[in-house]
Amino acid sequence: DADWLALEAEVCSHGDTVHYARQPRFFARSHGSYLYDNRDTPYLDLQMWYSAVNLGYGNERVNAAVARQLGTLPQLAPQYLHYERVELAARLVDGTRRAFGAAGRVHFDVGGSQAVEDALKLVRLRTGRQRVYAFEGGYHGRTLGASAITSAYRYREPFGEFGDRAEFVPFPYCFRCPYGKRRETCELYCVAQIERKFEHPYTGAWSSRTGRSEFAAFVVEPVQGTGGYVVPPPGYFERLARLCREHGMLLVDDEVQMGFYRTGRLWALEHFDAQPDVVAFGKALTNGLNPLSGIWAREELIGPDAFPPGTTHSTFAANPLGTAAGLEVMKIFEERDYALAVERKGSYLLELLRDLARAHPEIGDVDGLGLALRLEICQADGYTPNQELADAMFQRGLAGDLRIGGRELGLVLDIGGYYKNVITLAPSLDIADEDLELARDLLDLVLIECKQ
Ligand code: PMP
Repeated sequence: DADWLALEAEVCSHGDTVHYARQPRFFARSHGSYLYDNRDTPYLDLQMWYSAVNLGYGNERVNAAVARQLGTLPQLAPQYLHYERVELAARLVDGTRRAFGAAGRVHFDVGGSQAVEDALKLVRLRTGRQRVYAFEGGYHGRTLGASAITSAYRYREPFGEFGDRAEFVPFPYCFRCPYGKRRETCELYCVAQIERKFEHPYTGAWSSRTGRSEFAAFVVEPVQGTGGYVVPPPGYFERLARLCREHGMLLVDDEVQMGFYRTGRLWALEHFDAQPDVVAFGKALTNGLNPLSGIWAREELIGPDAFPPGTTHSTFAANPLGTAAGLEVMKIFEERDYALAVERKGSYLLELLRDLARAHPEIGDVDGLGLALRLEICQADGYTPNQELADAMFQRGLAGDLRIGGRELGLVLDIGGYYKNVITLAPSLDIADEDLELARDLLDLVLIECKQ
């Protein structure tokens, strides 16, 4: 690997995350819940490419659909039609109607960031307003528009001014509730704080010109992804959606990371009694194969000709290989009860992780929804964030030499959170129960070794 690493250092831009791993590995193949490095050591993947591969690596049905498309019509410019594209749009529209009881349409894009860009364009078109509210700790992508509504200033700072297109408000982060409440019994002071912004003409976001709020939308992740798999309290989004309605703002639901049954529903917002106006999706739609993303929006917003012709064009939008993969993914979700499967596996993993937390006081919080689970890594007091330990766990897993039951294994984790101290777990939705138990054992081993 030394030669390849030297070449990589010479020819690759390092804006990406490859050097997060201090001992970078080259991977050679993948299957199910496992990645295999070039020595053929298996790595149990508990992150699945930031939740882009919800149905496991090398899913046979999705791969076969792509292979069929490869043999017939693999390339087609987006202004021409093919059946898979229309059928996929129809299934997304149907699924979203079942989820939220609303009629709508789908517009395809390429990556998640681009879908967010088009969601922003649509809300501007429909409201005539430009700014949006977004959440501290939110993540919506790294293109210019998506970065502008992603709260972390440190990732915008190097690139100069982005304008004031978003105002950031705190997301309900119950483990560190500033009001000292518990999620089960809280009184939603967090949403009351946001409501207050709209009550005071001189301190809130009112325009003196128009005498009302001039924000186009609230952009939300129902469960924060990169923010550390943070789940809001019941009733939160219901109140936020009401606020949006009262002030002519649209609710934009970014499901790029939590969509496609990661939380046990097609869209994570379904858990929270709120209806979105626009949904942005991407990642797991193609099970991590040919990138494809898009937005769904209510019929009255998107209509047949929402976007003036040519204004959202992209060469690879609705590409045939991506739509073929997406169509098969949607069929799989319709045929099997993933709501039940994810609920069952998610609660089993949660139970295993709670056991683990009893043995390790450094795990301050174990929480999540469906198969999006968080381990908040702290000092021994169980509260003070411990970024070093989280990072050590991440590195230890990637070293690929954890000895367990006579085998040598690696562990693929990811770190998120406001303090970069949250191990975010997003295993395959089809992960075997033995692998959930192995996940617990590997995390235990990693913690023991890293604490030494
Ligand atoms: N929104 C959310 C919630 C995401 O998690 C991501 C990716 N992590 C994006 C948008 C951006 O998607 P992409 O990286 O495909 O551009």
